[in-house]
Amino acid sequence: MNLKTRLVSSAVCLLALPGFSQDKLSDNKQAVIHSVETHQDKLIELSDKIWAFAETAMLEHNSARVLSDYAESQGFKVERGVAEIPTAFIATYGSGKPIIGIMGEFDALPGLSQKAQTKKEPLEIGSAGHGCGHNLFGPGSLGAAIAIKELLQNGHLKGTIRFYGTPAEEDLAGKVYMARAGLFNDLDVSLDWHPDYENKANMQSSQAVTDYTISFQGKSAHAAFDPWQGRSALDAAEFFTTGINSLREHVKPSVRMHYVYTQAGKVPNVIPEEASVWLWIRDSKRSGVVEISDRMKKIAQGAALMAGVGYTIKLNSGLYEILTNESGANVLHKNMNLVGPITYTKEEIAFANDIMKEYGSEPEGIKGEINPLEAKKPDPPGGSTDVGDISYIVPEISLLATTAPYMSPWHSWVVVACGGMSIGHKGMLFAAKSLGLTMVDLFQDEQLRKDIKAEFIRRKGQEVWQAILPEGPPPVPESN
Ligand SMILES: [Zn+2]
Repeated sequence: MNLKTRLVSSAVCLLALPGFSQDKLSDNKQAVIHSVETHQDKLIELSDKIWAFAETAMLEHNSARVLSDYAESQGFKVERGVAEIPTAFIATYGSGKPIIGIMGEFDALPGLSQKAQTKKEPLEIGSAGHGCGHNLFGPGSLGAAIAIKELLQNGHLKGTIRFYGTPAEEDLAGKVYMARAGLFNDLDVSLDWHPDYENKANMQSSQAVTDYTISFQGKSAHAAFDPWQGRSALDAAEFFTTGINSLREHVKPSVRMHYVYTQAGKVPNVIPEEASVWLWIRDSKRSGVVEISDRMKKIAQGAALMAGVGYTIKLNSGLYEILTNESGANVLHKNMNLVGPITYTKEEIAFANDIMKEYGSEPEGIKGEINPLEAKKPDPPGGSTDVGDISYIVPEISLLATTAPYMSPWHSWVVVACGGMSIGHKGMLFAAKSLGLTMVDLFQDEQLRKDIKAEFIRRKGQEVWQAILPEGPPPVPESN
């Protein structure tokens, strides 16, 4: 999830309770646990490889290859390069209904390279790192999909399992391109998980966001000799951001607007001909973002008029907020409890505390227990994800699993370090098991699927999902 923010919980557990007892589990659920444990060395190996590749949005060639090759070796039919994204793929097993999807991300964040140790030290200076734990996300989801595939193969479940290799979550909105291509349309239910510092069935939404570039076009001239001939695009950009900052006073507290200047002239003695602002607008719901976007467009027009320059507004992408599903979260929560809390060794707890001290935060251990199911809050925590768009197409069930010390700073070297060692691996295996057990219920229980779908339809209301993207193919970068 990009720019994640966290909810503070008072209960912190340093030493989690012992794990689950398998006698409460049905045969199919026991088979899922057994499958994840059988494949766990391979899942850890995949995660560590993706962690070391640390490839950024739409450039995850090696990461997508190892995941899709493993799916293929397990008997899945793999389609690579879907939705015109070379690193997007779908791995399918089985036939007919129900069709259950599970998503796996694998993109890294620029500049966050870090070794799997408690001292800050890059693996490779200036390179990317898995500061959001997506190296765990992909293999964890694939582990759950493989467990279900084995049950379909031996006839204990009926239907289709589909693993979605979803690139470019941190930037470029990979899932939205896949959704625009209609790749999620026939699913009954979709699942995902995300690394976190708590274990819980996610009941909270995320922020809707729209990403724009506002550019101004002026006329250059000598800034001292004949400035009257020039028109400054930078003046317009400054008027624009002044307008945006005044707008803050007159929007709801749930709105967030943040920008950077991407062009602002090159040298003071040339009146800048080109200036650009990169702006994100967020709110709790898509409708709120649309309202603020309309006001932003008038501010851009006014700024251009004041400076006597031209302007263009380019839509880069936009994301919907997550449509939560309580019926789905409930069944996930029950299954998480069947798996039981994650337990940590003394060394892992020491690692967690040392790394937080090194970062400059109070060490609070690792939280291995499973949080109680929360009530849905009126406004989500800050941050947006392209899972939101999928949740408007198909009912979505989301898990959060502990892969880092409690209260870890997300998108930081701390998360990179923990994602490359056993703390991260344990969270990944917990996620694989919990999602696998949940999928057993989804395949077996038609009434559960109906309840989840009915809630989805009710929550979605009149909103018609539409990809918020510019025309044309995905913006696949040439290289890092
Ligand atoms: Zn993330």
